[in-house]
Amino acid sequence: MVSDTIVAISTPIGRAALGVVRLSGPNSWKIALKHMIISKPQPRKVYYSRFFKNKELIDEVVVTFYKAPHSYTGEDMVELSFHGNPLILSKALKIFIEDGARGAQGGEFTRRAFLNGKMDLISAEAVEKVIDSTSELGLKISQSAMNGHLANLIEEVRKELMEISANVEVRIDYPDEFEEEYSPNLARIIGNLNDILSTYDPAQTAIEGVKVALIGAPNVGKSSILNALVGKEKAIVTSVAGTTRDTIEASIFVNGLKVILIDTAGIRETADEVEKIGVERAKKAAEEAHIKVHVVDATSEEIPDLPADIIVINKSDLVHKRMKNALNVSAKTGQGIENLKKAIAELSAKVTEKMNSAQVVLIAHRQYELVRKCVQELQEAQMALNEEMPIDVVEINVRRAIEYLDELVGRNYSQDILDVVFSNFCVGK
Ligand code: GDP
Repeated sequence: MVSDTIVAISTPIGRAALGVVRLSGPNSWKIALKHMIISKPQPRKVYYSRFFKNKELIDEVVVTFYKAPHSYTGEDMVELSFHGNPLILSKALKIFIEDGARGAQGGEFTRRAFLNGKMDLISAEAVEKVIDSTSELGLKISQSAMNGHLANLIEEVRKELMEISANVEVRIDYPDEFEEEYSPNLARIIGNLNDILSTYDPAQTAIEGVKVALIGAPNVGKSSILNALVGKEKAIVTSVAGTTRDTIEASIFVNGLKVILIDTAGIRETADEVEKIGVERAKKAAEEAHIKVHVVDATSEEIPDLPADIIVINKSDLVHKRMKNALNVSAKTGQGIENLKKAIAELSAKVTEKMNSAQVVLIAHRQYELVRKCVQELQEAQMALNEEMPIDVVEINVRRAIEYLDELVGRNYSQDILDVVFSNFCVGK
């Protein structure tokens, strides 16, 4: 495949000790060497040089050269570490573009790695999640996908389906040779794929965070509790009822898991239009949350009546109200806040429990949809077999199931599919 040479700054824009510029494509060595004093560089060796534009010294660099196919993208590549000043890096970028390189699009290095057979589509998809994961668990899951656990399993399933398809074809071609009914074990394959499907939701939660909604009437202290949990003034706290008119989010990390705390507007009847929107959003946020924490004011007569996973009696510094299965806290003095954090941590761990032992995990909606469609085809094939329909019918479903798996790992792809997969990648990846 003929391709042009692309260039990008691969480190975040900002000041740092180092800033890396990557070149990939047939002219990358030539373009880079034009500006340095390095003769006959060897691949995968590190060189130091001064970097010039004509006679002007731009910076000192440390450079690594890669020869195709032994590089990230599978093409000739050069990685240059400059001093991490955005002025230097953008100068370097401009110089390389003047020399004929093209500014890379988001995810284009990884896209090339996929196109050159360096990784399957699942691994390519996982690169982004590995970089973006905010929690230990999310990182573990993404790395497992990047290292090919899911792709290997899909290949195994595909092999089994290919065998079934071959057996069916033989029976279609030579119907007289076979007397017995053919009954491949589709149920086991469907079961395995359903197990994989069930990992999608908890994996998303592990990568994106467990949502915890603080719900309750206005002025019971939801914002104060959020602040106490986060340890800083994130939500605005006031003594006028109905001031938190929208949802406010803040994240904390507990036991390697990201927990997104959502402070909702007090749920109450209101005539104020803006507050009404807030109340609606609060209800929605509470519905979508994995864990609901219902906050009650110790000084009120209120009896908690909203569905909740944890009940908290706040303002316990004023009155000590006893209630079964409720946690007494004071956002003001900090009393009980650690216990609340512990309770949230325990429930959060349960939401993602499955992920601790799961080896094979779906980390993208695309993956989920394709496995789901594959299962659907296999279920139809199973039904056709049960109803003793002609074996040709089974063949059609099994073939389609294989096609979905091929799309999943990227054996079959179109530019549109790649555009979707790489649309969220940043430039330089
Ligand atoms: P929200 O509407 O439920 O978010 O309630 P806020 O967090 O805005 O708190 C309402 C009022 O209760 C504010 O005046 C807070 O200072 C006060 N408050 C919150 N938590 C406590 C607490 O634990 N003890 C006491 N004494 N006052 C509190």
